[in-house]
Amino acid sequence: MEFKKDEKYLCMLAPSFVSVYEYPEIVYRIRALGFEKVVEVTFGAKMTNINYYELLKNQTDRTWIASPCPTLVNMIRGKYPHLVKNLVPVHSPMGSMALICKKFFPNYKVVFIGPCITKKMEAKEIGMIDNVLTFTELEELFKKYNISEKIENPKCQMTFDKLYNDYTKVYPLSGGLSSTLKYKKILKKKEILVADGTANIVKILDGFKDGYYKKYKFLDVLSCEGGCINGPCIEYRYPIKERIKRVKKYKEYATRYEKDLGRSGRKIDAKGIDFTRKF
Ligand code: SF4
Repeated sequence: MEFKKDEKYLCMLAPSFVSVYEYPEIVYRIRALGFEKVVEVTFGAKMTNINYYELLKNQTDRTWIASPCPTLVNMIRGKYPHLVKNLVPVHSPMGSMALICKKFFPNYKVVFIGPCITKKMEAKEIGMIDNVLTFTELEELFKKYNISEKIENPKCQMTFDKLYNDYTKVYPLSGGLSSTLKYKKILKKKEILVADGTANIVKILDGFKDGYYKKYKFLDVLSCEGGCINGPCIEYRYPIKERIKRVKKYKEYATRYEKDLGRSGRKIDAKGIDFTRKF
């Protein structure tokens, strides 16, 4: 990716970043590449959740399948076209956050950086996002521009441009979506099935009958085993258990120490944005 001098760039960083990189150093390193703004996708995830909640509350005529994983969406489109109507017609956190960024920062080129190659296809399909880089490609850029992991004398802000400091930081873990959905008023725990890994998902999709999968009302599913922290373009620097710990630890850290940085990012701030998506 080349940075043009007459353009301003905004990076939306996938929440799995912390399973590989150190925070806040990673934010500084991304800024050093030429990104003026660096945001998390937490506010996007929150709006995705709110829209899921409304759908699950009001439309109970099928088993709904979570749709943030483009690999899963592709699988359903290709092998299970009769289940396309079961995909929740709401943008993923990446898509929701892009809509929010277009509202808050209209003159920026928006680049999503994450662990997943198929997010490139999703971005092409939904528009709004100018480029998608994987963590592998990010590493190449760090090498190309000689941006090391150690920051000696930071020359710019190290923390995110905060829109929301949110509990949705656990989204890249398997079950992260449903655990942050606050569903207790509309669903029982036993009506939600959390699953990950292609082999497990195939079994589930094969088991659908007349639009339903057993007694479940919602399937919180991701293609990669363990979730996006085990995505295809992530550097396996730490074992998976450690990656999970790092995500949870960062959430706790940010909740405790960065609460006051997240002043915007309320539901009202997203008023007027349509987060629905067609499949
Ligand atoms: S689970 Fe894997 S394939 Fe699906 S969005 Fe996450 S990283 Fe991509």
